Amino acid sequence: MKKGKMIILSGPSGSGKTTISHCLLSKFPELKFSVSCTTRSIRNNEKHGKDYYFLSVNSFISKIKTHQFAEWEEVYPKLFYGTLKNEMFKIWKLNQHILFDIDVKGGLNLKKQYPNNSLSIFIMVNSIKILKKRLFTRYCYEQINQINKKNINLRLDKAIEENSYAKLFDFVLFNIDLYQTKKKVIQIVSNFIYEK
Ligand code: 5GP
Repeated sequence: MKKGKMIILSGPSGSGKTTISHCLLSKFPELKFSVSCTTRSIRNNEKHGKDYYFLSVNSFISKIKTHQFAEWEEVYPKLFYGTLKNEMFKIWKLNQHILFDIDVKGGLNLKKQYPNNSLSIFIMVNSIKILKKRLFTRYCYEQINQINKKNINLRLDKAIEENSYAKLFDFVLFNIDLYQTKKKVIQIVSNFIYEK
């Protein structure tokens, strides 16, 4: 199997990294998204096996015990997220490069395990106010109730913590203008994928 590369996109929830990852997938056919496992509940617009593998806590724990994860984190209290080793090897076997959209600690963990074939990019938001607005818009598609308010606040607290890890990434991009950010990410990824 030819050794593939990996691109790690991290940054706070609401920073725009999911939009950027969709943009990269449509631009580069040699990239494939790594579908993570999670124990959080499925959202209206999501599909099992496409956005995530939605697992029960027991099933997630059994995968931890049998060493099936390359990394996993309790990203929010009692909500687990993890990358399956199998998912990664499956993509490399297809001769494609992996695209991750994962939290900061998980991203840095993978970078440490694969220092020679990884590129890590942190998408930053320069204002918590903007982040709050984006998260409210996202959850408005569902419903602003107590549970979703709690979800938004959890994500805002985490964003402050995550921003402090930005300097450990290969590139840090402020997502102020989405068009410009996409342009920069495309350039960075293109240099990385096609470098000799
Ligand atoms: P959400 O629940 O909003 O989809 O994702 C919450 C956070 O979990 C995001 O920052 C997302 O990037 C991160 N995440 C998704 N998959 C993984 C994974 O496999 N491992 C880790 N460590 N974080 C993940």
